[in-house]
Amino acid sequence: GRPSCECNTCYHGSDCSLHSVDCPADADSGNPLFLEPYWYRHAKGSAVVVAGWHRMGYVTTGENFISVELERHIRMLHRNVGNAVADDRFIIFGAGSTQLLYALVHALSPHNSSSPASVVASIPYYPVYRMQVDLFDSKLAEWRGVTSNWVNESSSSSSSSSDGSMNNFIEFVTSPNNPDGLLKHSILGGSSVIYDYAYYWPHFTAIPAASDHNVMIFSSSKLSGHAGSRFGWALIKDEQVYKKAIEYMKLNTMGVSRDTQLRMLKIIKVILAENGRKGDIFSFGYQTMRERWTKLNKVVSKSRRFSLQTIPSQYCNYFKTIRGPSPAYAWLKCERDEDQECDVVLKNAGINGREGSLFEADDRYVRLSLVQTQDDFDQLVQKMDALVSDHQSIS
Ligand code: PMP
Repeated sequence: GRPSCECNTCYHGSDCSLHSVDCPADADSGNPLFLEPYWYRHAKGSAVVVAGWHRMGYVTTGENFISVELERHIRMLHRNVGNAVADDRFIIFGAGSTQLLYALVHALSPHNSSSPASVVASIPYYPVYRMQVDLFDSKLAEWRGVTSNWVNESSSSSSSSSDGSMNNFIEFVTSPNNPDGLLKHSILGGSSVIYDYAYYWPHFTAIPAASDHNVMIFSSSKLSGHAGSRFGWALIKDEQVYKKAIEYMKLNTMGVSRDTQLRMLKIIKVILAENGRKGDIFSFGYQTMRERWTKLNKVVSKSRRFSLQTIPSQYCNYFKTIRGPSPAYAWLKCERDEDQECDVVLKNAGINGREGSLFEADDRYVRLSLVQTQDDFDQLVQKMDALVSDHQSIS
């Protein structure tokens, strides 16, 4: 029918539920709306009402701008999920993990050294690490590119200390990685490491063990799906690093919105109350992502023109069983010589993804987001199926 003037331009029908064939499938953003149905189910129990007079001031129940109740529940969450050692660690909150990424770069940079710390990551990596370091352009930290370029330097470089350790390096390790979903480890011995664990939840990966690194960053964006609340936290072992990160937060935003902290407390309480039961957020998240991954694999494997990353099945300490892969993103590769710009091939078929070069990888790769709404995903599969079938009929 005719598009109603109330519908978004890409939808029509009396309830705006029909997607227009001319519109592209959106597989671009990591907007985590796959968790919306879970929260529909818990609409009432997860609601927060805040009176106008409540928590108006700067003060919080805990030191350094954090609510002690929220802190306690976050530690409980890690204990229940078994993904990180949170007891006897300092906790700092941030406006999303985005704010914490740079707070930790700042905190780990040597403040009494004549040369800036070298910040590095492994390809393919989440581009914000580089973009932040370049934007803030500090005397303390400088982007030095790809980690592997520095591995052989560790015994000869002037930035090595006498024991050969890379004491002036800050290495970002994203595990599981954005974009390829693989579990990663530090490869630069002795460097300071920031573990970005935004996706280290059972929705997206097996949890082989509770991680126990010096600096680990988490985010509610990919845990509960509340990306808009802008809430993240870091677990920090060393008190000096913690103090420097706090100093950064003090001057930057004076901590995280108290309203956000109230909402996150409620959200985490709901998650904990169901934890371990059949329909808990992790089973829901895993099932949803697993189903999407299986479906996309089935379609892509029809043609040799494209391939997807392989992620091994692995024992998961949370589900207490071996489980198949369920990554947040597909890292699709165009296999033919002539398809050097894979994102253009996809764009021509009505699929919007993110080109590999954004992650400093080859443009034969494209990242396709699998974490958006079911509609977004269905349209992706439909367009991908058409592309693959079209290719088969002409080859
Ligand atoms: N780290 C990684 C690896 C991410 O993919 C993202 C967002 N998609 C973030 C950090 C930042 O997320 P947020 O600020 O919403 O916590």
